Amino acid sequence: MAVEGERDSRVKSSAAPLPTERAALWSRLTTPRRHDLAVVGGGATGLGVALDAALRGYSVVLLEAHDFASGTSSRATKLAHGGVRYLAQGDIHLVREALHERKHILQSAPHLAQPLAFVMPSYKLWETPFYGVGLKIYDALAGHEGLGRTEWLSAGAVQRLLPGVQPRGLKGGVKYWDGQFDDARLALALARTAALHGALLVNYCEVQQVLHEGGKAVGLVAADIETGQTATIQAGCIVNATGVWVDRLRALDAQAAGERPQPIVEPSQGAHVVVDAEFLPGRDALLVPSTHDGRVLFAVPWLGKVILGTTDTPRPDAPREPHPGAREVDFILSESARYLKRAPTRVDIRSCWAGLRPLVKLSGDHDTKSISREHTVRIARSGMVTVAGGKWTTYRAMAEDVLAHCIQGGRLPARGACTTAGFPLVGAPAGARLDEKHPLSEAQGPHSYGTEAALLDTLPGADRWLADGFSEAMVRFAVRFEYARSVEDILARRSRLLFLDAAHAARVAPAVAGILRQEGLREPGLEAFLGLAVAYAQPAAAASA
Ligand SMILES: Cc1cc2nc3c(=O)[nH]c(=O)nc-3n(C[C@H](O)[C@H](O)[C@H](O)COP(=O)(O)OP(=O)(O)OC[C@H]3O[C@@H](n4cnc5c(N)ncnc54)[C@H](O)[C@@H]3O)c2cc1C
Repeated sequence: MAVEGERDSRVKSSAAPLPTERAALWSRLTTPRRHDLAVVGGGATGLGVALDAALRGYSVVLLEAHDFASGTSSRATKLAHGGVRYLAQGDIHLVREALHERKHILQSAPHLAQPLAFVMPSYKLWETPFYGVGLKIYDALAGHEGLGRTEWLSAGAVQRLLPGVQPRGLKGGVKYWDGQFDDARLALALARTAALHGALLVNYCEVQQVLHEGGKAVGLVAADIETGQTATIQAGCIVNATGVWVDRLRALDAQAAGERPQPIVEPSQGAHVVVDAEFLPGRDALLVPSTHDGRVLFAVPWLGKVILGTTDTPRPDAPREPHPGAREVDFILSESARYLKRAPTRVDIRSCWAGLRPLVKLSGDHDTKSISREHTVRIARSGMVTVAGGKWTTYRAMAEDVLAHCIQGGRLPARGACTTAGFPLVGAPAGARLDEKHPLSEAQGPHSYGTEAALLDTLPGADRWLADGFSEAMVRFAVRFEYARSVEDILARRSRLLFLDAAHAARVAPAVAGILRQEGLREPGLEAFLGLAVAYAQPAAAASA
């Protein structure tokens, strides 16, 4: 690992953000050259690989079929955590690694990732000592990287920290520390930091073919989703980081040799429901240690609302836009009702959404919640490197492992050590100083842009607010510097309004479309977005469960 001084000298100033004008990106992509590395997939995993490789000095291209983080990486519970559930499952290696990585996420982007206290209320006398001891072990595994000591709480203390908790029968509780982040904006910060260090990243560019020479994967054919134009990309090494869709690219790669590789991913759907902050006022999160199906359930204050979730349901069809099923929504509401003073119902739902975990397949019968969240790296006969599984929290360690495999396999020349640990991402305040005034429990605003907040004032519309904390200038910033191409990109992943309050997002959408047109986007996708917003606003009816 690089020492502090060395690392800082490599940090490029974010005073002048890099423009992300599409024509210029496409022109670079179609300029003939051989890249060291081509990464397919712009979620946490692929972006982590691109950043690590760019910082080591490799020439890198990353292609994303839709928007960055539009797959699973914007649909997480947004916890940078070791995972108390994995501790209960005895997955010590994963917990230890994730606790270590948690620190790096908090250091790399303090404007987007912060420590968060969790309170686990106890309604049976044995629960406080039982879970308390487990969480002391969690503290011990974190060692000096711990974020705060686990504390045993009286019933009164639990109510003070969680004013929304169900007081009836409350015996006490335990408080422990983990982290939380804004997943889509963290992904964008990874993309923009990689670009600042020379990587070429193109969204809405789908890889449709793997090119071979002498049986080895040497290139890709990718299509611009907006124009249908294609580009041929030559690369010494190809990394498949397409999440739940990795097996499709593996099949494409193996097709040339007439092979059919066994699938390695088993997608599992997780749903979330978002309600107003009044259901759980305050900064602390609530953890339900054991739901009826043996999972943990979270109620997490996030950007002015509360996220409730999640579920774990096999989803072999891996749709692009999964929706929470009626049973999932009912499960989340009924489990939350056991722990909250005011039970949320369907009419209280501001948004509901689902994501697909790319779990690594096990053989034999099992349920998806028992599958480990560890990642795997596989190298095909063609040399294409596939990475699957893992967690958002461990994206950095996964990237380091992927590059080690690329180098060991001789697909990449050895060059430079990994320097991503704690490396400041675009917008990170100097010295990794946390903005105490703006916890992630509060609504987004210019503070979410970290050191880039002042740039918003230089753009038209800095004082014209489309929603609380969301200005016209932010839309322009997103188009000019954050790769945004549509209303959905803006309202789902630059602002998070779709995930927080879908009906509100629909009301704001026409104004956003208007600004996008002024910025030169002829088809900003307003109609498609309004359809999506309806689906996020209204959970599936119980009858269709
Ligand atoms: C409900 C839920 C809650 C979670 N909560 C947490 C949490 O709190 N903390 C945590 O650490 N982890 C969490 N996770 C796990 C974490 O979100 C995932 O492990 C991580 O986001 C996976 O990232 P990825 O890059 O592998 O996949 P993705 O984000 O899905 O990225 C893959 C990308 O590949 C692109 N792609 C596919 N095919 C092609 C192609 N042919 N050409 C170009 N691009 C292509 C897709 O469009 C997609 O954007 C959660 C997951 C779920 C589902």
